[in-house]
Amino acid sequence: MENLDDDSVRRKGSTVVAERQYKFSWDFIGDTAQGRPNLGNMTRIEVYRLFQYTLRDVLEQSYGTEEADRLLYRAGFLAGTELCEKFVGRCESLSEFVKKVEDLLIELKIGVLRIEEMEKDTARFVLTVAEDLDCSGLPEVGHAVCNYDEGFIASLLEFQTGRPFQVKEVDCWCTGDRTCRFEAALTGETA
Ligand SMILES: [Zn+2]
Repeated sequence: MENLDDDSVRRKGSTVVAERQYKFSWDFIGDTAQGRPNLGNMTRIEVYRLFQYTLRDVLEQSYGTEEADRLLYRAGFLAGTELCEKFVGRCESLSEFVKKVEDLLIELKIGVLRIEEMEKDTARFVLTVAEDLDCSGLPEVGHAVCNYDEGFIASLLEFQTGRPFQVKEVDCWCTGDRTCRFEAALTGETA
């Protein structure tokens, strides 16, 4: 886990990057109270989605759909890890961790997380996110779109358990469902 954030090495792939300008730092979030004394720290969900889906458009044009999805997954993973480190921390028990994360995701208006199924022996989980930030209200397009959330959830599970998970969205507003549902299994085991 520690090496993933190493300045000089990209996660998986081992491509050495000599210098980076945008390694994530909370400095990029900045002091919003100072920076936006009148407009404040809130914006509209349309703005968030405009940003995500325009970035996704150009990622897909540049790298193809599969790679664009993978990049979003990795970004979600990074976001989840950073949020956990800053606001949650490792907990004594998984249930305590889940409660803290559920509360955080509601406070930040990311979505309403629930663990639907948990098999402790096999470390398989089914989780739902209602009113999800990325897709709730989108029309049905025949496939799930929440790759960012997949990575985000994978990072949460890995953060607390120390074990790597692969997460797949199986229901989504974009598959005609009214909540997002994710299956998580340890990496290397079939989901
Ligand atoms: Zn979804």
